[in-house]
Amino acid sequence: TQEASSHAPVCPKLQTVQENRNAVEMLWLDAIVPYVISDELAHKEGDFHTAFQMISDYTCIHFVPHTNEYNYLEFKTGKGCASFVGCRGGAQPLYHSQKCSVGNLCHEIIHALGLHHEHTRKDRDDYVAVQWDSIMPEKNFALKYGNTQNLPYDINSIMHYGSYFFSVDGNPTVLPFEVGVQMGQRTHLSHLDIQRINKLYHCGDNTQLIYVSPAGFIFTIYKLIKCMFLLPDERKK
Ligand SMILES: [Zn+2]
Repeated sequence: TQEASSHAPVCPKLQTVQENRNAVEMLWLDAIVPYVISDELAHKEGDFHTAFQMISDYTCIHFVPHTNEYNYLEFKTGKGCASFVGCRGGAQPLYHSQKCSVGNLCHEIIHALGLHHEHTRKDRDDYVAVQWDSIMPEKNFALKYGNTQNLPYDINSIMHYGSYFFSVDGNPTVLPFEVGVQMGQRTHLSHLDIQRINKLYHCGDNTQLIYVSPAGFIFTIYKLIKCMFLLPDERKK
């Protein structure tokens, strides 16, 4: 079964986006994200590059220094880590504060690529219990009826909140039904995060392969160019 092969419009080149467009549907043209790092964040440049690599190592997304592109991400100092969802058109701010870890930054960049929070998926109540009484008055737990791309719910997503995020009283704000799962990690893209981004940007159309190792383990390889030399050897055995 195929998801309605997303015919998401790409971010416009010459005009700004109408406010009523669904931001998650707005993709970066050719999966290329031009960026500018503001002067006051120059000392954090290493963090930005690490965050870029967390994404670009596993997807077809490329981050390039901005030259004359109409759409680009502008990393600026803000009160917290924050981003718009999807490509908005023109210079698009992404806010960084001292509290932002590399993982936080990666999370915000993935918002800018077009993904909402995983725990706002329409089927989240099947996997987690939102503790409404303990949540700070803000909107990041409201359901979003976006395209889930036929991928399963992902507790381990870098786009999922942890149990105590935005707690107003120190009690949990979101609890997984499954015991012993990791939730709220900000260290890496999960297997499904990688698939989500690659599907959204059609990266997999040319580069996604599945192969079975001699021991029977199934691997999905996203970057044929990086891995192709491995495959013939494995297949001979
Ligand atoms: Zn977020």
